[in-house]
Amino acid sequence: MSRNIGKLIKEMTLEEKVGLCSGLDFWRMKGIERLGIPSIMVTDGPHGVRKQKGGADNLGIFDSVPATCFPSAVGMASSWNRKLIKRVGEALGEECQAEDVAILLGPAANIKRSPLCGRNFEYFSEDPYLSSEMAANHIEGVQSQGVGTSLKHFAVNNQEYRRMSINAIVDERTIREIYLASFEGAIKQSQPWTVMAAYNKVNGEFASENSYLLNDILKEEWGFEGFVVSDWGGVNERVEGLANGLELEMPPTGGLGDQKIINAVKSGELSEIKLDKAVERLLTIIFKAADNKKDNAIFDMKAHHQLAREVARESMVLLKNEDQILPLKKEEAVAVIGAFAKTPRYQGGGSSRINPTKLENIVAEIESVADNGNVLFAEGYSLDSDEVDEKLINEAKEVAINAETVVLFVGLPDRYESEGYDREHLRIPENHVSLIEAIAEVNQNIVVVLSNGAPIEMPWINKVKGLLEGYLGGQALGGAIADLLFGEANPSGKLAESFPKRLSDNPSFLNFPGEGDKVEYKEGIFVGYRYYDKKEIEPLFSFGFGLSYTSFEYSNLKSNRKEMKDSETVTITVNVKNTGDVAGKEVVQLYIKDVVSTVIRPEKELKGFEKVELQPSEEQTVTFQLSRRAFAYYNTELEDWHVETGDFEILIGKSSKEIILQDTIFIESTVDVKKSVHRNTTVGDLMADPILAPLARKLTAKMNAGSSTNNVSDNDKASEMVTAVMKDLPLRAIVNYSNGAFTEEMLTDMIQLLNEEQYKGNSV
Ligand code: BGC
Repeated sequence: MSRNIGKLIKEMTLEEKVGLCSGLDFWRMKGIERLGIPSIMVTDGPHGVRKQKGGADNLGIFDSVPATCFPSAVGMASSWNRKLIKRVGEALGEECQAEDVAILLGPAANIKRSPLCGRNFEYFSEDPYLSSEMAANHIEGVQSQGVGTSLKHFAVNNQEYRRMSINAIVDERTIREIYLASFEGAIKQSQPWTVMAAYNKVNGEFASENSYLLNDILKEEWGFEGFVVSDWGGVNERVEGLANGLELEMPPTGGLGDQKIINAVKSGELSEIKLDKAVERLLTIIFKAADNKKDNAIFDMKAHHQLAREVARESMVLLKNEDQILPLKKEEAVAVIGAFAKTPRYQGGGSSRINPTKLENIVAEIESVADNGNVLFAEGYSLDSDEVDEKLINEAKEVAINAETVVLFVGLPDRYESEGYDREHLRIPENHVSLIEAIAEVNQNIVVVLSNGAPIEMPWINKVKGLLEGYLGGQALGGAIADLLFGEANPSGKLAESFPKRLSDNPSFLNFPGEGDKVEYKEGIFVGYRYYDKKEIEPLFSFGFGLSYTSFEYSNLKSNRKEMKDSETVTITVNVKNTGDVAGKEVVQLYIKDVVSTVIRPEKELKGFEKVELQPSEEQTVTFQLSRRAFAYYNTELEDWHVETGDFEILIGKSSKEIILQDTIFIESTVDVKKSVHRNTTVGDLMADPILAPLARKLTAKMNAGSSTNNVSDNDKASEMVTAVMKDLPLRAIVNYSNGAFTEEMLTDMIQLLNEEQYKGNSV
């Protein structure tokens, strides 16, 4: 329905306008009946609908209506399957419609800076491209159902420690290339209806009152059309927030925030135009929600449970499969050990906690898929404590002795990771480790299935033959695990994060979680695999890694051009063939490496991926389109993305570590980077500049005549040394070294001539 929002705003009183800028209650926005403005409801997200029934809280304490619990974001991202994540979004949208929820509070696109972050399970990846692609598809899916999303937590919310007061200090290039890029792609591709501002400060300003983030970047530069909502209780100064781009305060503060805004408008501290602009953004979304509301909507609970199982299968990552211990043979006796198998850990703690429509029992699902009456079970440990219980261990050993294979369920209990606090180490409980060690004494055929939301250390890895990273698989995890164990489904997940061998290998280790209220991101752009690659540190499992029950061969890497301008696009194709005996899915990953660069860049960066399904012997061609941004770094002087002229390698791999094919493309920059010449410009920089070098050579020839270094020119070695030293010499130093042959006046003239040469014919 078309409405004249401008006219409506004119009809509103100051109090009504201000009133719209905070909620009605914990989960609803205000409506204004006399003007036909409806009240709409928002609800957590991101992997299910948490519509609370009675008590309201943002820590997942009070009950909510039953809803499908899909795998957490960490798992969804490990599927690397855009279409599947979009289908999850569609299902979430349908459930929102059925529950009269207008906006789902998710997805969350924060980068996994440290594996310790308590909320990593809710975030997609350590890589901004993968994260933004996943977020974009999640958003597109939800919004295709006429329900809005809230992309959160914008921005640089990468730890729970002091999350409401910490000041994250990040340099401009890093924030652009890593932390903002993770949101940027999703905003530009999918236009979420709302964005949730993070609790923390970013470079000294609260994210919720940070004009640079909210106005300059999000709205102006990226073209975000919706409104910004505070994280729950995250407003610092309400007037500052509104003035700097935060439209909605949630939950409301009993009129306190509103009164402050009214006073500020009345005193002239805040212009009413700013308030009107905020109201315009709010009304646009409120009416969008109202217009898209489907009356009497229902959803198919069974179908959504099935979808949850499908997603769970693709979310899990096969990390080890020695002697092809998996898939299990149905006729053989299997011992299922570990309390998680009966009391599964299937989602994370905090505001995303869902009340599932159904929860699968893993043992029962294994029994049902194996269908041989040969499945034994032992608890192995208590979920309530870390202490080793010898009795439980001995019982488990008895069971393990009688089985062909042992499937051991271990990982992180709920209390180990949650929204609200970070972990302090990467270990699993002592009783889980002791159990693995004890079982290894009586049975060599161990497959471990992990339940966790983030990486763990695995000092016991050599004691087990199989390892399936199950993450937090949602309500249908049991069936998915059974399907994967017995080969009813072929594992196709790949890690969306690196697993370090030890915590201290992680790049943020020295600066996490910071000192007092300050955390400095000193590792810069070297997050996750960008760091392990560069430092040549072998992680336990690399970003992008995951095994399959079949094998894939890559061939015929082609690019439709070998040279191009940075304003052009290149098409890359590569063939992938299933060379094994069973059908499977492969994630083909494309990384870019800038071969020579004047700035420090990662060894490679993910810039494309495609997941393909292949029957045995089937071959498909995968296509990637790459343009400027795939080759660029953020140039802080230009305040723009910049591609330097030169060669770029196109690397096709099965993981960030296993690169199979490579090609090279030459890209010519269309941007003139002009740096004015001054007394401290070095000789080397001048000589490297194609425009300035010829003139510089001519001008400095005079100086060479009188130089104290000219008498070594016959000696090759010495001349090489002189050249090397000269390279870093600032122009002013030539005066000192030239024995009066090159004067201050000559230097001034030379600088002027060089600058004239550079800007000749160009207005800069
Ligand atoms: C979380 C958000 C969540 C909100 C509402 C906050 O504590 O950080 O992610 O959407 O609560 O529950």
